[in-house]
Amino acid sequence: MKTALCLGAGGFIGSHMVKRLKAEGYWVRGVDLKYPEFSKTHADEFITGDLRQLGFTKSVMRNDGEYSFYPNAFGDDQPFDEIYQFAADMGGAGYVFTGEHDFEIMHNSAMINLNVTKYATSEKIFYSSSACMYPQELQTESKNFQTFELKESDAYPANPDSEYGWEKLFSERLYLSSKLDVRIARFHNIYGPEGTYTGGKEKAPAAMCRKVIEAKKEIEVWGTGEQTRSFLYIDDCIDAVRLLMESDFKEPLNIGSEEMVSINELAQIPINISGKDLKIKNIEGPIGVMGRNSDNTLIRKVLNWEPKIELKDGMYNLYKWIDGQP
Ligand code: NAD
Repeated sequence: MKTALCLGAGGFIGSHMVKRLKAEGYWVRGVDLKYPEFSKTHADEFITGDLRQLGFTKSVMRNDGEYSFYPNAFGDDQPFDEIYQFAADMGGAGYVFTGEHDFEIMHNSAMINLNVTKYATSEKIFYSSSACMYPQELQTESKNFQTFELKESDAYPANPDSEYGWEKLFSERLYLSSKLDVRIARFHNIYGPEGTYTGGKEKAPAAMCRKVIEAKKEIEVWGTGEQTRSFLYIDDCIDAVRLLMESDFKEPLNIGSEEMVSINELAQIPINISGKDLKIKNIEGPIGVMGRNSDNTLIRKVLNWEPKIELKDGMYNLYKWIDGQP
């Protein structure tokens, strides 16, 4: 039986990954500060604790010492076959681009990655980077002017627009400089059911659906609404990560969609789903870069992967899920 360690297993992408790994027959240990918010974990073993703590990280990386609850599942003192590292201090534009959380974001996430790279040994390890590490000067216009499809080689000379992006770039380099067998994805806006949709850390797709569900006359959208992005549905994301882990490709790789929309176009999708007659009111707010899209040339070539789920269909699933929440 193959074994996997999923760090950040209480979060959005991590909890979906645990579910997939279980469906594929893995024995899975999940680790996070908290249990998944919206469903029961599928992990065989779930350990709550803080990966900023060196001792805690060391103890969860192997089947030994304090955490060997299921010693028969695999041998003592064995490394996991695969590690998936999703744990990070992150959120949407309201969390990442206001400047208020810059120190926590950099410090917390860097601490986690420093500890993980110190104690991971021969295992194959996946690290989740972000499109936020691309240089801001390549993302200054929205699609009305020109498109910005970011390819992997655009990363340098580096100039991310946020401290979140700088930490991602640092950690990419940290993993690459280790002797670990690394796989690195640069995620472009992953969305879908069972992600945060309220409280300040939610991202645009979930925030738009929630606002539409709550609204009577209008919804507020930050910025001019002309800023552009692409969004990838969670199931497509998980497929791509699994393919990447099975491959021999060791350089950072975009995992995103090329279906670019403006933020006002994104907001219109749940309005259409709701059937309500709602206006979009653009107000001042944190927006990040003006235009960004994924260039999937490389992932097509190395993994033969394409997203399957169109934005309107993924947003329908997300809208229905948020609408069904208590
Ligand atoms: P998330 O916030 O839902 O999950 C991250 C998890 O990490 C949370 O459950 C959190 O509790 C956990 N965590 C944070 N600090 C911890 C600590 N000190 N110890 C243990 N656990 C800790 O985020 P997500 O959307 O699932 O993202 C997963 C990864 O993918 C992150 O690294 C994120 O930066 C990256 N990413 C996500 C997106 C996206 O659109 N969701 C885009 C680009 C990159």
